[in-house]
Amino acid sequence: MPARILLVEDDLPIADNVILGLERDGFACAHVMLGAACLEFLQTNPVDLVILDVGLPDSNGFDVCKAIRRTSNVPIVFLTARADEIDRIVGLEIGADDYVLKPFSPRELVVRVKTILRRSKPALSNPPAGGGFQIDEARACIVFAGVPLNLTRAEFFMLRTLASAPQKVFSRQALMDAAGLADASLERVIDTHIKSIRAKLAAVSPGLELIRTHRGFGYSLNLP
Ligand code: CA
Repeated sequence: MPARILLVEDDLPIADNVILGLERDGFACAHVMLGAACLEFLQTNPVDLVILDVGLPDSNGFDVCKAIRRTSNVPIVFLTARADEIDRIVGLEIGADDYVLKPFSPRELVVRVKTILRRSKPALSNPPAGGGFQIDEARACIVFAGVPLNLTRAEFFMLRTLASAPQKVFSRQALMDAAGLADASLERVIDTHIKSIRAKLAAVSPGLELIRTHRGFGYSLNLP
């Protein structure tokens, strides 16, 4: 069965291009132009990934994303025309998986979609995490010290990677790959995700510096 993608985009020429690119690669693509239509569609049609324009006529993509996240963990890729929105997209509470800055080539978008879909399949041979971390692959959830962490998808894959080999230093590139973020993503995207993961760990266990920065190398998870 082809992966099902929902495209939420009010700019028709862009939408046509994206649909063409996705269908050429074998994806099944549904298209709506409004945030409300997106939420309505998702109530009755399960999809594997949502491509969500930030600037919609009836609402903005951030609010739509938050509404989706109340009930679903489906991967979300933002389309944005404004570089200054990127910080918000990769920021703490939105819950997006990746973004593409307009103008973009449909090819570039398809590559990102494929990467995310590949990463969102649970790995079968993931070593168990120790040090108070429990990883629930099926629900894409990490429990720390008995508390389920409210992680975005990218954060989940990054923390899962760090927890798979405590003390080991992972490069930003390795974490980007694990999170399914495209090569073109900026290194500060990783730093922003790490900052967010640290905040979520600190909320459970204040004062513990679990994620260590290795300047020029990357990050490691150091268990107490
Ligand atoms: Ca738009």
